[in-house]
Amino acid sequence: MKESWHKTTCVLCELNCGLKVQVKKNRITTVLPDNNHPISKGYICRKGLHIADHQHHEDRLTHPLKKTSKGFEPVTWNQALSEISVRLKQIISDNKPKAFAFMGGMSKGCHLDAVFGKAFLRMIGSPFHYHSIAQEHTGWHWISGKMLGRQDSPPIPDTNHADMILAVGWDGMESHQMIRAPIILKTFATHPQKMLVVIDHRTTNTAKIADVHICIQPGTDALFAKSLIAIILQENWENSSYINSHVTGFDILRPCFLKWNIPLGLKACGINMDEAYVLCHELSTRKWCLKIEKGALMNRHSTIISYLYMILSIICGRLCTIGGNLIPGYVSPLVSQSDDDLTEFQKTIYLEYPPIGDFYPPNILPEEINNHHPDRIKALLICASNPIRSYADTHAFEQAFNKLKFLTVIDIALTETAEMADYVLPACSAYESWDTVFYPFTFPDIFLQLRKPLIQPTENAWESGTIITQLAEAMGFLPNISESLIQASGKDRYTFLLALLAFSKNASQFESAFPFVLSKTLGKAMKSSHLAALWGILQTQGTTFRKRADTAGFELTSGISSALSLYKLFAVSKSIITNLNFMPLAGLFPGVQQSEKIFQKLTESPEGTYLGHMDFNQNMKEIQTLDGRINLVIPELSDWLQSISPELESIRLKRTQQFPMILIAGCSAKTNAHTQIRKPDWNKGLRYCTVKMHPHDAQKYCIDDGQMVSVITKSGEITLELEISLSVQEGQVNIPHGSGLKYQGNSYGENVNNLTACQNRDQFSGIPLHQYVPCRVEAKNI
Ligand code: SF4
Repeated sequence: MKESWHKTTCVLCELNCGLKVQVKKNRITTVLPDNNHPISKGYICRKGLHIADHQHHEDRLTHPLKKTSKGFEPVTWNQALSEISVRLKQIISDNKPKAFAFMGGMSKGCHLDAVFGKAFLRMIGSPFHYHSIAQEHTGWHWISGKMLGRQDSPPIPDTNHADMILAVGWDGMESHQMIRAPIILKTFATHPQKMLVVIDHRTTNTAKIADVHICIQPGTDALFAKSLIAIILQENWENSSYINSHVTGFDILRPCFLKWNIPLGLKACGINMDEAYVLCHELSTRKWCLKIEKGALMNRHSTIISYLYMILSIICGRLCTIGGNLIPGYVSPLVSQSDDDLTEFQKTIYLEYPPIGDFYPPNILPEEINNHHPDRIKALLICASNPIRSYADTHAFEQAFNKLKFLTVIDIALTETAEMADYVLPACSAYESWDTVFYPFTFPDIFLQLRKPLIQPTENAWESGTIITQLAEAMGFLPNISESLIQASGKDRYTFLLALLAFSKNASQFESAFPFVLSKTLGKAMKSSHLAALWGILQTQGTTFRKRADTAGFELTSGISSALSLYKLFAVSKSIITNLNFMPLAGLFPGVQQSEKIFQKLTESPEGTYLGHMDFNQNMKEIQTLDGRINLVIPELSDWLQSISPELESIRLKRTQQFPMILIAGCSAKTNAHTQIRKPDWNKGLRYCTVKMHPHDAQKYCIDDGQMVSVITKSGEITLELEISLSVQEGQVNIPHGSGLKYQGNSYGENVNNLTACQNRDQFSGIPLHQYVPCRVEAKNI
């Protein structure tokens, strides 16, 4: 390979497919799939081919910007950081620390900034981290916490050993959300012994290739899941031996479903009895795994739907079982474990929402800002997030941000959100900094790929972690870093570790400020705060990770002997004497050696490496409930679950004259990449951002394909071109997300989030219910 070719990953979705890119004159010029990538194995979608349009465009930031009466003006880093810190300190001292919130970090391809964002929040004393994970998946995490004792690690489908995929609200052919999803889906759909079953109110591209598409009425996912469970239990098709061995609460749950009126339930979903019974027979006899995504999770009864499909998997014996859904391992959890012992401190000020796994749903943020409570959120730091285009209810976000006393945005581009900020700080892009992601998408292997910088950033762009560290320093959050620690960071990493251990004993708030200390010492030596943070993450791993890493060749036991080498004993003794404390003794732990080996391997393996293996047959041991069994009963959901009956739902689902149709607000397509590609050329000549409508409805409303129509909801109105399509049912329309880009004075498509209300959300998780928005469509006579 010539020197200008590099291995890296696509950063446009969470799968991070392997790429080979050519860089000439500091620009990405050619992109190819990495055929030898251990995970994506040469697969990429069309978005991956367009990462240059994410990297190089006219909206890239080149200076810190300050908003003045004349608009944005470039300022120096020193000026920006010192003025921001003064404003923030003032707001916090006039109010309370909870008047500050952090949004973002952990974007699709870069997770290390969140280490710094979380530390910044801790130092300020606010718990509020608003993140997109809480926009779609935290209900699933919460259910997993209740049933498996693992909010941090919900089960993932084992498609390698399953003979059937149950895809619920998942259009993997377009949205992926599983590595090599289109290839896997096509394999299941065409294999004579395998099956792909789709339950979806949309006729997605996944539904089109499926063996079976159960096309339920919009908004009836919970009714349908209840009916499936009822059929299995009323027919005694459950997996009794699995339930007896591994499940608690079956006797309490079963009677609720024995009374369920199956014909009435299925009728409300628009599904005939034969179709449902045949599916249940397959579910009770096949080796199937579940993939549930936003068609269901961003729909009515979101958290209940997660609960019901988890129950369905359990009564069929599909959890923690080969070919079912398995609890994966990780290097760092995406969502931490925050269970029932929530304090008042953790609840939001206005709506009193609790976090799930340390994250708050972006959907509630406008109300937490735009209210009259004296302690409401008044200052916000946003990093790598564009809520004005990405989240439900653009108007509510705009109003809320106008009400903020202070908004700072860290980003690579002058986004629609950055335009509203008081200060905008230029960050290095994913291809200009060291970074990685911690998604646990693989089983039994634990995989990590560290991306190195390929492009030289402008001198004014910094790694996000460095920006937050500098801001923390300006705020006075950093402990006094000793000269000996700074000097040690320029030596070998073992010497630095011993100095760090010694320093940690005497520095107050060392733990909270740990990433910042690393950034200012090792980060400087390595020329990367992110790299230093990763080194810190690896050094602080617990026993479980270490044992798994041992199975991947990063020996733990043999490390003991090398840790006890003469050099190490001498270095530790010297550090103990110099610093007059015994913390450096920890430097003799075998884990230190192991972490260093892993770190070394990651920096030398641009295509990533396996950091551990799990045992298929031991997955039940990953359950962390008190009795070690799967828990079927969640009392907090009991009333809600019971309230979902065919009778009541048919009243709730009745369409009104004002809004006779249902808008599916947002769907993945080959032409949208969230809001991450700003250069519009990549979709030039393609038809995108249309309103999709069933031919019968188009006929009913006398609208032709290509005609302009207005879609009107309670929240707003947008006008777009109509596309007649069989991908939606009669009575539905569909508009993709990700449009509404403003670039170089031109607009590209319309932002569907103008049509959604942030109050239309799940009562438990706050997830927006984008998939079910009552609307009407009017033809425009242009
Ligand atoms: S956008 Fe496409 S190429 Fe990029 S990571 Fe996702 S699936 Fe892979």
